[in-house]
Parts: sequence; C-alpha cells; structure tokens
Amino acid sequence: MFGTGYMANVGVIPALAGRGDLVVSDALAHASIIDGCRLSRASVRVFPHNDAAGLERVLRAEAGGGRRVLVALDGVYSMDGDTPPLRALCDVARRYGAMLLLDDAHGTGTLGPCGRGTAELCGVSADIDLQVGTLGKALGSFGAYVAGSRALRELLVNVARSFIFSCALSPPQVAAARAALEVIRAEPWRRERLQANAARLRERLAQRGISTEPSTTHIVPVVIGGNDRTMAICEGLLARGFYAQGIRHPSVPEGTARLRLTPMATHHEAEIDALVDAIVAELAANP
Ligand SMILES: *Cc1c(COP(=O)(O)O)cnc(C)c1O
Repeated sequence: MFGTGYMANVGVIPALAGRGDLVVSDALAHASIIDGCRLSRASVRVFPHNDAAGLERVLRAEAGGGRRVLVALDGVYSMDGDTPPLRALCDVARRYGAMLLLDDAHGTGTLGPCGRGTAELCGVSADIDLQVGTLGKALGSFGAYVAGSRALRELLVNVARSFIFSCALSPPQVAAARAALEVIRAEPWRRERLQANAARLRERLAQRGISTEPSTTHIVPVVIGGNDRTMAICEGLLARGFYAQGIRHPSVPEGTARLRLTPMATHHEAEIDALVDAIVAELAANP
C-alpha cells in the first residue's frame, strides 16, 4: 500500500530501474509514470501511443547487453478513455525480457469480469509483473496498491522511497477500501451498469454526430478544441444541471480541450439521454 497512486509510481519505478537501466513508457503515460521515470535516473524512451510495433522498435534498438528493462503503461488512458492492446504489448515485452508495469488507476474496480481491471479484461493478468492502482477512484477511498510476486513486493517495501519515508494509510482509509473491495466482489451489476451507461452515452453522442473516439470505457471525451469554447460549454451544461468537467492544456495537448464525461453506475438512461441533448444544445449555442 502506498499513500497515493502518484506515490506508488514514483516509488516503484525507481525501485525497479536505476542508472544504466532502461524504462520505456507509452507516449501518453500518466504524469506519475513520467515523474517516476525521471526519478529513476534510468534511460527513458517513449513509444508511440498504444503501438506494439513501436515498442518493439525501441526495445530492438535499446534493450540487450544485460540491461534491465521496464515497460510502463496505463490500463485506461485517463483523458481519452482508451485501453492499450495489452496482449500484443505483453508479447513484445516478454520477447525482450522486459518487466511490465501496468498502472490501472481507472480500470481497478470498473473493468474485467471480477473488476480486477484492464489486464483481467484482456486476459493477460499472468503476464503483468506489477499492477498499480489507486484506491481513490472507483474504490472511493484514498491510497494505492501494488500487486506482484512476493519477491517484488518484498523488494518494494525495502527499497521504494515513497513507501518507506511516508506514513502508512490510516485505518479508516484501509477499512473504506476493504469495504469497497467487498462491494466490487458482491455487486458486479455496478460495473455492468457503469459500462452499459458509458456505451449508451458514446452511442447516443455518435448518433448526433459527436465523436467520443477513441474511448471504449467509462471515460468519455468530447473534444471541443479551444479553451474558451470548452469552458463556455462546461458552464452552460452546469446551468442545465450537468457537471461535465472541461479539461485543458497541460492535461491534454494544446488545441484539444475537451469535456471529459464520466457516467456513474447509478445514472438512469433518461439522464444519459438528457445529457446528450444538453451537449447538442450547448455546442450549437457556443459556435
Ligand atoms: C489518477 C491516476 C493516478 C494517481 O492516483 P492518485 O491515487 O490520485 O495519486 C495515477 N495513474 C493514473 C493512470 C491515474 O489516472
């Protein structure tokens, strides 16, 4: 257990890779992975987003010579709602003897038959060396977990600085996360409803000519473009009773400001449909 997902990545990556080693991360990896890479002092290379052939090119050029190699990925990209081609990426990592770290902050509790996340969804749980996830998103608590072999866990509690030099989680945070895990286990309808609501939202928007590409999950982006237009639409939606967070640079590239829609399991279909109508109206009202 780490204090947060951010602290998990800045602790785990330097624990596994140091000077002379290689860390390869996806071009859209979360800021905490980027900062973990920097702190590790390893050579850092980036491969094109979700591109297994691109990862292979980097590993072919850079791996080898007994160098330790770590590949770091997100399970769900938090600004676009897409997931990586994990089967292909795991195969490449394995072929080059690289360790694979999956940060499944947004997949934990929301994806996969048992809610274990993107690796479970893709059937590659056995090929992930380390899975990191936050307790602060679907679990509604605070903190983070790192799951891996006993040997890796043993290493982390002895080496990861953000684990050693920071307080443990408080008992209420742990109790809340444990209770959430029980809900995840016992109430699969919640993630089924969540994904059904997200799918309905994507479909209804598409029917109105509004793209949510490349999302396949409960993070549903509507790219608007300019900052001012995005925030005007965000305000307009708020006045209509919908909270749709506007996201701007530096969270996303300049010129791709967007609404980031995050439906819940408890939303009703009528609410999803009303949101779609409201977005259509606000897009028209803010040309
Ligand atoms: C939110 C997020 C984090 C950070 O988790 P916290 O517990 O909020 O620090 C790390 N990685 C990814 C991919 C995230 O989406």
